[in-house]
Amino acid sequence: MKRIFVRAAIIAFVLLAAPVLLPAEKKGTPQKSGAKEVTTMIKDIHWLGHDTFRITGEKVIFTDPFKIKRKDTADIILITHEHYDHCSPEDVKKIQGPDTVIVTVSDCAKKLSGNIKIVKPGDKINIDGIGIEAVPSYNTNKQFHTKDRGWVGYIFSVGGQRIYIAGDTDRIPEMKAFKNIDVALLPVSGTYVMTAEEAVQAAVDINPKIAVPMHYGSIVGNKNDAERFAEGLKGKIEVVVLNEE
Ligand code: ZN
Ligand code: ZN
Repeated sequence: MKRIFVRAAIIAFVLLAAPVLLPAEKKGTPQKSGAKEVTTMIKDIHWLGHDTFRITGEKVIFTDPFKIKRKDTADIILITHEHYDHCSPEDVKKIQGPDTVIVTVSDCAKKLSGNIKIVKPGDKINIDGIGIEAVPSYNTNKQFHTKDRGWVGYIFSVGGQRIYIAGDTDRIPEMKAFKNIDVALLPVSGTYVMTAEEAVQAAVDINPKIAVPMHYGSIVGNKNDAERFAEGLKGKIEVVVLNEE
């Protein structure tokens, strides 16, 4: 009786402890081999839901802070456009310190205060050694994010990696010109942005080392969109579906 109990306890320990011990499990599951490199590349990129990422490296960078649960201090906040689920003054306040630099477009800047750098598509700036490029982000088959709004995505470098956050966009021709992207953060929910299937095509255009689905699980879209995105890129591009932190 006692021996059975001990054996059961060992099995339970292994089952419970294994996910904690495997970093690949902890950060979401890479699709194919090269998992170790992928895990290293993605380890500083934390998904806080929707389009909110906390990226750590030389600096603490937040993207589109929305529904922030933990107080924090960002060095740089990148905001793609003026919609409430991307440009949220109350969430910015939770992570804004005296030295925080906010990079955003002019219509979002009007809602915020502090040290703000206003950008438009095509602008390149450098903040404390972090190179940041604002790139176009717009709809092609719907009217929520028209090109004339001048909203943006960002390509920025952290720890020697080039990260692209797309914002609320469809697959646009400019994507083919983005070079040497290591990690692409792409919306997959449909409705206001690309569907998972369109995002697969966009990822092929961008050809990043890793693609990460976003813009689901909060306002529109769900895990199924992320899974279809991963499925569609199988054998083409490594996809990491991050767990929300
Ligand atoms: Zn939007
Ligand atoms: Zn959105």
